[in-house]
Amino acid sequence: MTDSPSYGFDTLQIHAGARPDPATGARQVPIYQTTAYVFRDADHAAALFNLQEVGYIYSRLTNPTVAALQERIATLEGGAGGVCCSSGHAAQIMALFPLMQPGRNIIASSRLYGGTVTQFSQTIKRFGWSAKFVDFDDHAAVKAAIDDDTRAVFCETIANPGGHITDLDAISAISDEAGIPLIVDNTSATPYLCRPIEHGATLVVHSTTKYLTGNGTVTGGCVVDSGKFDWAANDKFPSLSEPEPAYHGMKFAETFGPLAFTFHGIAIGLRDLGMTMNPQAAHYTLMGIETLSLRMDRHVENAQKVAKWLEDDPRTDYVTYAGLESSPYSKLIPKICPKGAGALFTVAVKGGYDACLKLVDSLEIFSHVANLGDARSLIIHSASTTHRQLTAEQQEAAGAGPGIVRLSIGTEDVDDIIADLDQALAKATA
Ligand SMILES: *Cc1c(COP(=O)(O)O)cnc(C)c1O
Repeated sequence: MTDSPSYGFDTLQIHAGARPDPATGARQVPIYQTTAYVFRDADHAAALFNLQEVGYIYSRLTNPTVAALQERIATLEGGAGGVCCSSGHAAQIMALFPLMQPGRNIIASSRLYGGTVTQFSQTIKRFGWSAKFVDFDDHAAVKAAIDDDTRAVFCETIANPGGHITDLDAISAISDEAGIPLIVDNTSATPYLCRPIEHGATLVVHSTTKYLTGNGTVTGGCVVDSGKFDWAANDKFPSLSEPEPAYHGMKFAETFGPLAFTFHGIAIGLRDLGMTMNPQAAHYTLMGIETLSLRMDRHVENAQKVAKWLEDDPRTDYVTYAGLESSPYSKLIPKICPKGAGALFTVAVKGGYDACLKLVDSLEIFSHVANLGDARSLIIHSASTTHRQLTAEQQEAAGAGPGIVRLSIGTEDVDDIIADLDQALAKATA
């Protein structure tokens, strides 16, 4: 199949990036379990190392199974190219690496996956980078936070843990005006519910660990480049616009045009940082993506019913699901996520911290795990786990206060999910 953009999402999620194996005709993408690839001759080897010819050298950089997944995710996101990585967190570092230098900063939403808040507020400081956290509903504050050293704006489409929706069009208008890229973590929405590039995102990052794989089997990440940002428009992005000493002074932006970021990610990022996805993981994720739209429709349908039931239940104080009419974010749904608000939200349980712990310990279908986007329903008490490293103010800002649990609604029978919550809430609030 040619990957014509005219094919629908359900077709592309099965076929994009995958062709019958040229050697064997194998219909499914083989797991190319190999470290290295034999060069045709010495000239071929030299051309590959000079980036004059595209091909396989060594699996830290490229592998055919991983390449099929990269192409599939990039196609589903409507991007020019993609680079898969060993985890979602690796993808975030890989997205920032070509943009940043010591002394540079990013503007990040205060509502992010807890691990990302820690990565951005603690770990990136060791590289001399920093993050300024801002409430992304306050567009004036986002704009005001950008300074001459800012090199990216970072947010999530459907923000973890509360399921809040970011007005990507408004945020990309601000980053565009400042001449810096918008990076959107689209993990919780997936390209089925939202395609951030259509709302002005420059780069899209994923934890493929979650919905894209869909069954909690492997960790992985991906950076998709829209191919639309002009890296040479000013002197802010020298890694992409200036001569690269490791490749005889080649300029990535000039040589690779819309694929500059993707080639840099492979030829410099994976080569030197080594955050490579392995072909087994790529295989599991390729299998998962084949059913992405079917699963997401069911996740959304279940989440909608469970959120409504919880909202109407007197044992809860509030539910943050953006698909509820009571949510201040419901008005953004037709624009940002017309197929639904995802399946991730938080619930404030009457009885606070202790009731939340009792609830997670009383559930039978739900698993208490630090994960989301599984076919199984999952729950976590963020304040005592994923958001534990955060200060009380950061927890509140992130929507992960002590009396709140986060639910990731699975694809089980919705009546069973509700019955499980019912019996556990009875114990938690007894
Ligand atoms: C899980 C997650 C990450 C981190 O991904 P890993 O694969 O666990 O490294 C980043 N962002 C979001 C929204 C996530 O849910």
